[in-house]
Amino acid sequence: MYSAAGSTNHSPTAHWGIVGGGVLGMTIALRLAQRGCRVTLLEARPHPGGLADAWQLGDLVWDRHYHVTLMSDESARGLLRELSLDDQMVWVNTKTGFFTDRQLHSMSDTIEFLRFPPLRLIDKLRLGFTIYHASRVTDWRALEQIPVAEWLRKFSGRRTFEKIWLPLLRAKLGDCWQDTSAAFIWATIARMYAARRSGLKKEMFGYVPGGYATIMQRLVEKLTDAGVTIVCSAPVRRIEAGAAGTLTVHTGERARNFSHVVSTLPAAAAPILCEQLRDEEKRRFSGVRYHGIVCASVLLQNSLSPFYVTNITDEGFPFTAVIEMSSLVQREHLGGHALVYLPRYVRPDDPVFEQSDAALEGEFLEGLRRMHPRLRMSDVKAVRISRVRHVFALPTLDYSANLPPIVTSVPGFFAVSSAHIVNGTLNVNESVRLAEQFVQQHANVSPDQAASVPAATGVLQSVRQP
Ligand SMILES: Cc1cc2nc3c(=O)[nH]c(=O)nc-3n(C[C@H](O)[C@H](O)[C@H](O)COP(=O)(O)OP(=O)(O)OC[C@H]3O[C@@H](n4cnc5c(N)ncnc54)[C@H](O)[C@@H]3O)c2cc1C
Repeated sequence: MYSAAGSTNHSPTAHWGIVGGGVLGMTIALRLAQRGCRVTLLEARPHPGGLADAWQLGDLVWDRHYHVTLMSDESARGLLRELSLDDQMVWVNTKTGFFTDRQLHSMSDTIEFLRFPPLRLIDKLRLGFTIYHASRVTDWRALEQIPVAEWLRKFSGRRTFEKIWLPLLRAKLGDCWQDTSAAFIWATIARMYAARRSGLKKEMFGYVPGGYATIMQRLVEKLTDAGVTIVCSAPVRRIEAGAAGTLTVHTGERARNFSHVVSTLPAAAAPILCEQLRDEEKRRFSGVRYHGIVCASVLLQNSLSPFYVTNITDEGFPFTAVIEMSSLVQREHLGGHALVYLPRYVRPDDPVFEQSDAALEGEFLEGLRRMHPRLRMSDVKAVRISRVRHVFALPTLDYSANLPPIVTSVPGFFAVSSAHIVNGTLNVNESVRLAEQFVQQHANVSPDQAASVPAATGVLQSVRQP
């Protein structure tokens, strides 16, 4: 059904429309253009980048959401190499903290782990075993059948579950942890062990000076050089298949025709954009549950702690972790400031999305002062709040079996999104890998062929196994 990868045979009228200018859409656009396809990228906002874009915070331009690259992120680093940025990366050994029983604890190595007061030695041994065991599991599909709480209680014990795992699950998933499968924790641990699998002695975290503003600028240049037409401020409202095999994409008042259209938007957008999808497909697309985020960026005069991540196991904070970017990024790259992110992961319909910036800023800074009483308000140079309702798909029970197809029943219309990362967490490395796999598998398919691909074969799988 597919012609061999690399032997692209494009009709002169083939024109691909990519909906969504995040990392996924941009990488798909680049790889298609590099194969000689004609490509137009349509992005709703005034600039591409999506979740990985940058913004102005006081006098600094830095990432809207905290981003770090792992040394083992092969696909992301491959792209950075193409952008001549990989050799500029700064690599750092970061520390991790826990805020537990109203105190900050360092948990960055084995000795600190063994000293960690809230757990007894037996609890620590069971916790260590759980992580080791998860890193050895290869049948992640079996874990999709088991609720995460059941699996963690079994291996770590009730006390460690309540004291450590539950606060961490709540931090990322809110109450939705109850509907999440053990594959979630497996994927998280698999990312921690990625360095070892890729032959590196230890994992390091890295960043490009200038952050994602630099990466996105280079990526846009690369796309333009490859011949991709980038259209910003073009929110796609409707995708319609016509009788002549063309797909018409409506953005406000304009309509554009394509031979192939790829939506990279959250799964639930597909049935809204394309009414011609079959009912069963619509049900699958709408059935993917998402989690969102409200995330404050706080620019400070001074650093708060040496920890890149501070996990919070105490209750009552308005944010679910503290990410101190300045423990990773040299201050000279941050205009001499310290930079802290305060994420709060929530359901897409959480009332927090309706709260004003001023109200959220007040709550978040008050919480930060409770954790760091030395912090003075005069130290706070700027605060901005980002809100995104659909960030990642919740890995619910039997997740991969219920996924919507990438190849839809509408000829030439594909809908691929981060929801199709079935055995990994949401990160740029997985997004780049998904994009590259998509192009490898589908770039040579004519619209008619695409429509005859059964749904199940439309699901890509990340090839990485722990
Ligand atoms: C808080 C946070 C922290 C993260 N930390 C890391 C990290 O440390 N390391 C890492 O590697 N990754 C990290 N990630 C993940 C990384 O950001 C994602 O993997 C990646 O950005 C996903 O890209 P995407 O293209 O799939 O989605 P998106 O970035 O969401 O792209 C979708 C695009 O579609 C556009 N769009 C929406 N509707 C329309 C429409 N109707 N018409 C046209 N365009 C539309 C949007 O504006 C957006 O640009 C983090 C993400 C978040 C939120």
